[in-house]
Amino acid sequence: MLLLTCPHCGVAGEETEFAPGGEAHIARHGPGSDDSAFEAYMFERTNPRGPHFERWRHAYGCGKWFHAARDTVTLEVYGTYPANVAGPPQEILDRIEKRKAK
Ligand SMILES: [Zn+2]
Repeated sequence: MLLLTCPHCGVAGEETEFAPGGEAHIARHGPGSDDSAFEAYMFERTNPRGPHFERWRHAYGCGKWFHAARDTVTLEVYGTYPANVAGPPQEILDRIEKRKAK
């Protein structure tokens, strides 16, 4: 079971309360980019074994999008943060590094 906490309203719930939105922090390529860059933006996704950054929406709550850092093997959630940032907060990156060191 995956337990997430919405960073906007603070409500914690099971994954059924949230809607997945795929991989986070994807570089966007729009009109004017070459075909291979646009194809990569549209279709290529990582599928890591371990820490992964994902987009989620609080579908049965406030409705806002956010990002979650979680481990795809253990389902451990390293943290959630608003979707309007360019990258994960340093405290979450530190938490992932600390876990890798164990
Ligand atoms: Zn919420």
